[in-house]
Amino acid sequence: MSLRLTLPVLQNWNCHNCGGCCRQHQIEITEAERQRIIDQKWTTADGVSPDQAIVRMGAGRYRLGHQPDGACVFLNEKGLCRIHAKFGEMGKPLACRVYPYAFHPAGKSVAVSLRFSCPSVVKNAGRPLSQQLAEIRQIADAVVPAGASNIPAPLIHSRERVDWADFHRFVQALDATLDQPGLPIIDRLLQAYAWTTLAGQAAFEKLRGDRIRELLDLLREAAVGEAQLLKADATEVTSVGRLYFRLLVAQYARKDTDANLREGWLGRWRLLRAVWKFSRGTGNVPPLQDVLREVPFATLEQSFGELTPDQDEIFTRYFRVKIQGLHFCGPAYYDIPFVEGFHSLMLVMPVTMWIARWLAAGAGRSQHSTDDVEQALAIVDHHHGYSPALGQAAARSRVRSLATSQDLPRLLLRYCR
Ligand code: SF4
Repeated sequence: MSLRLTLPVLQNWNCHNCGGCCRQHQIEITEAERQRIIDQKWTTADGVSPDQAIVRMGAGRYRLGHQPDGACVFLNEKGLCRIHAKFGEMGKPLACRVYPYAFHPAGKSVAVSLRFSCPSVVKNAGRPLSQQLAEIRQIADAVVPAGASNIPAPLIHSRERVDWADFHRFVQALDATLDQPGLPIIDRLLQAYAWTTLAGQAAFEKLRGDRIRELLDLLREAAVGEAQLLKADATEVTSVGRLYFRLLVAQYARKDTDANLREGWLGRWRLLRAVWKFSRGTGNVPPLQDVLREVPFATLEQSFGELTPDQDEIFTRYFRVKIQGLHFCGPAYYDIPFVEGFHSLMLVMPVTMWIARWLAAGAGRSQHSTDDVEQALAIVDHHHGYSPALGQAAARSRVRSLATSQDLPRLLLRYCR
């Protein structure tokens, strides 16, 4: 792969062997990887029962098995990968080698992003990515398909497509909106919401190149005043908006490796019951993971404290990595257009802060800490762009409804300050 890699400017990362990814993810494997694992001849003496190592998901689809607690069958008691220990890095499935990187076509280059489901990514722990270019290129060579440069730029909105050069102008405008040190992240997101919403209604007709840049400058200028109006608006989130928001939270809070919540009639019954409780929003929040305990819905409607500068930095980095890495629209995000993709991305913040309240309340606290916010973001980003449910028509239509009704900025103001 000879395409240039563009790395997010703000991010550091190294693996700290916490084993978290091996507990949270379902690893789908190719036929060749299935055969390679069979050829590795795992036995119970290695700590792996051969008939549980690989699970059939459907016709021709397989994944690595899980231990009863949800961990990968190959994770040993020290939290390390048995395949890596016995056969080295190259013995593992490609998905395990790539994580937490994500590579997205960007015309004549490939945009590199990171998954914040890895706690080391959330904490910005490790060396700057710019110092790891050779290793990242090796991984990119293994995953980026030939012909990636022929993939067209994502739509801007349902009726407008521009070429890659103009698409990058939109991305740069979004990144510049988020790159305003000194302005709270909430204000920057409100500005971004305001101008992307206007862009979602515009017809660019023959505007291209510098004319697009001028249009974006005008939209961004208008968005400054618009964001202040949104901030001053005291209208409450509508009841429909609250319902849609809770249903989204339920999707983000699920643990997809938890067999108790997934498999058999009992698992399906538990899930159905949880969705019903989330749709009502009264009584107790059903515990969707071990760390998310049963607490009253009403408790989570109270303030759990202001956003601290540390938390502001985490969200700034999160949004800028996802935007620079094109990790919010097009092939990286259910093939949805730029505007809708940004609105979905923006929702990550109120969903994360709601889950941070849940974590704090479950531990008997009335204030959330930065640890709660980090843990909540890791839970949420695990699904963002990866859970099939979030790409389905129903979930997409809820996000569009939250954006057009202006419930999206209201949710941000309600749960994030
Ligand atoms: S979650 Fe991140 S730090 Fe932990 S083992 Fe996986 S890649 Fe390494």
